[in-house]
Amino acid sequence: MLALMPWVFPSLKQMMSIDSLRNVLELERQKRYTNKAVIGGLDKYLHNQARRIRQTLVLSLNEVKTKELMPQLLADFDELNLANSDYDSFSTAQREGWITSIFDWISKLETTKQENGSRIKSLDKSPTMTTKSHPKKKSEGLDSPITHIRGITPSIATKFAKLNVRTIHDLLYFFPRRYIDYSQRRFIAELKEGDEQTILATIWQARVATFGNKRGTEAIVGDETGNIRVVWFNQPYLARKFPTNTRVVISGTVGVFKGQKVFESPEWELLEDKELIHTGRLVPIYPLTQGLYPRQVRKWTKEAVDGWAWQVSDFLPSETRTRCQLLGLFDAITQIHYPDNQMLADEARERLAFDELFLLQLGVLARKRDWQESQPGNAFDIDQQVIDKLLHCLPFTLTHAQHRVLKEILADLKQPRAMSRLLQGEVGSGKTVIATLALLIAVANGYQGALMAPTEVLAEQHFDNICGYLSKASANPSSSLRAQRSNLRCYAGFLSRPLTIALLIGSLSNLEKEDLHHKINQGKIDIVIGTHALIQKEVEFSKLGLAVIDEQHRFGVLQRSALRQKGFNPHVLVMTATPIPRTMALTLYGDLDLSVIDELPPGRQVAKTSLLESQYREKAYNFLHRQVAAGRQAFIICPLIEESEWLEARAATTEYERLSREVFPDLKLGLLHGQLRSSEKEEVMRRFRSGQIDILVSTSVVEVGIDVPTASTILIEGADHFGLSQLHQFRGRVGRGKEQGYCILIPEKLPPEVKNRLRLMEKIHDGFALAEKDLELRGPGEFFGTHQSGLPDLKVAKLSNLRSLELARQEAITLFHHDPNLNKAENQLLRQQLSQVWSNYAEWS
Ligand code: ADP
Ligand code: MG
Repeated sequence: MLALMPWVFPSLKQMMSIDSLRNVLELERQKRYTNKAVIGGLDKYLHNQARRIRQTLVLSLNEVKTKELMPQLLADFDELNLANSDYDSFSTAQREGWITSIFDWISKLETTKQENGSRIKSLDKSPTMTTKSHPKKKSEGLDSPITHIRGITPSIATKFAKLNVRTIHDLLYFFPRRYIDYSQRRFIAELKEGDEQTILATIWQARVATFGNKRGTEAIVGDETGNIRVVWFNQPYLARKFPTNTRVVISGTVGVFKGQKVFESPEWELLEDKELIHTGRLVPIYPLTQGLYPRQVRKWTKEAVDGWAWQVSDFLPSETRTRCQLLGLFDAITQIHYPDNQMLADEARERLAFDELFLLQLGVLARKRDWQESQPGNAFDIDQQVIDKLLHCLPFTLTHAQHRVLKEILADLKQPRAMSRLLQGEVGSGKTVIATLALLIAVANGYQGALMAPTEVLAEQHFDNICGYLSKASANPSSSLRAQRSNLRCYAGFLSRPLTIALLIGSLSNLEKEDLHHKINQGKIDIVIGTHALIQKEVEFSKLGLAVIDEQHRFGVLQRSALRQKGFNPHVLVMTATPIPRTMALTLYGDLDLSVIDELPPGRQVAKTSLLESQYREKAYNFLHRQVAAGRQAFIICPLIEESEWLEARAATTEYERLSREVFPDLKLGLLHGQLRSSEKEEVMRRFRSGQIDILVSTSVVEVGIDVPTASTILIEGADHFGLSQLHQFRGRVGRGKEQGYCILIPEKLPPEVKNRLRLMEKIHDGFALAEKDLELRGPGEFFGTHQSGLPDLKVAKLSNLRSLELARQEAITLFHHDPNLNKAENQLLRQQLSQVWSNYAEWS
């Protein structure tokens, strides 16, 4: 292998884009020039690829030593004019001719490459800078513990375990966060202050030196253009590693001390018989934990890559790989650790990200199919009369969007396979009434329905709302309400028999719970509304036909499938107010079909939002005082403190005390934070809802769909720390009654970009538009991690990259279409990989 220093000659691995070009053209030839080799057509592909290839060629040209070798090739390449190709409009014969001429050019290039290679070798005056010894391929399997690597002791393995690295395979998939670019070699005379640079030099003298009262190492090194001083503080032992005349590579930033240039504590590496890993290249920076040092870790990842990466088999079907123009897996793993250049590092990341998304997609698609096909679902009859009865009694008519979504849901319920649908709709868009209609249909078909909410307060709220809807349509609402127990109600004359609806939450007495469990089991309850209590073992439905889950992001796949296992393969409707761009929703919840209520009921007012700089906070407090005096309530949201719910709770408590004492001594304040027990949280929310609290001081835990009609104002402190989507969720908490709602954003800091971002809140009131902006401006950070959703972790892929999400999804669907069970020979490796990645989740489906 020709592994020269990157600045000597751009590595021939750069020519990989040419390999990819060749593959694509070969495929196109096989497909008889039908322009089907790549998605989107050959022209688009060539346009992109031409840029890369040309870049590579130009890079080679710029190399002093090879100047005379490439110009003709470049001229020929330009003549082919790939960047402006018009393949699409060619006749088949023209296409064939043109592709042949590209092949001719490629073979010319290859010949030059070979000659060039040998020439470079002989030109190179420092043979020590090439890799002479081939890395030793290891035969132990990839599942071997990392202690198989020289120098990794059991105690170091424990430290790696903290990073979830246990096997060699894990280490290969332990990727750097970023790279430092030490690939720019300079002569000493050219060194510039402040830049990250690399020199190749000879040690003239190295000795232990004292800096202040600490010992360290000082060396004088030189090349043909000059000498420079290099110092390492605190590392006196280095002096011994640098005997005079040793060749060394030094990478770091150059400073100036007493008018002289100096390298201070740079990275260093002796120029031995090895490839450089700490200097002279793009140097990987790994995420580390205490007790692991960068140099060691680089040594070990290098050893893993050299010794074991060859064993990794590329599980992507080659057709997929070619069509998506992806690096091979071996190259991707090698390049993500020790890239030859930034372009290849990016391509490696692209490939590995694709793998993650593709496997994720295949997994969710398979799961959906399993759910739908393993057991037949229950086809419901849709009794339009039941629906009309409820609709006619409502004080409003459904919006177009609600009608559309209802139709989609009813169409699913008619099918003999279980519905799996995600219903997205802004806060206040009217999801509950849709859920109620679906539940009614289940009951009218003799099945039970369940609605699960993330908190007791929300469950109670749903219970009240749904009872409200039902009582309007009930034959004799006043009598049916009288003398009913609060958590169990019965509506006569609505269906051909009385309909029973119950609230099942953790705070009921054991006796009440047992009674409900019994009645649910006996089929004496038609609709149950509750919290997690619903998926507990004791709850056995007699005939569960539909499960509705509200506020998806607090529930994971796990809970969803627990509900499914409540029997009868029920239809499942998941509702969320968190706006997620479509592609992302399809990825995270690819097992669900998607319905969106993208319209608010008419006349719905939006919360007036304003950004207020912190020095005017008093104004906001005065406003709150006036609102409370007018009989309304308010929220004050405390700043987000990353990664410590405890600190956040403490800060909220301090703020609560300050506000109670100094700002609102005459008002009743409440405090809500994540460190409270859930019964305490529920209690605070209950008091707020019933008007016993005027102002609720809260951390971000208040976000989920709580409905307090008299809450008019929400003041958000540290607004700059929240994402737009989250702010929008907060703002949805106010103005839910008839009164105008207000949202006041007070940022901690307000640099221009934050100001611009927060100003969007004043202008945009569409949650989806805000979500897209959020992704664009801040990345996916705030969007729930896959952890919570019970999906495999994504290490490389970014959910914000909608283009790659879409690509992975398309490819997964295509593959699934052609080989749904991955039975074909060429898909066997993929099948294995898939079951490995999803193994932790298998028991859920
Ligand atoms: P979501 O759960 O989507 O946030 P809800 O179902 O709680 O919204 O509805 C919010 C409020 O709007 C409720 O008071 C509900 O009765 C009312 N509502 C629902 N649909 C309509 C409609 N089409 N027109 C007017 N009001 C509606
Ligand atoms: Mg709701």
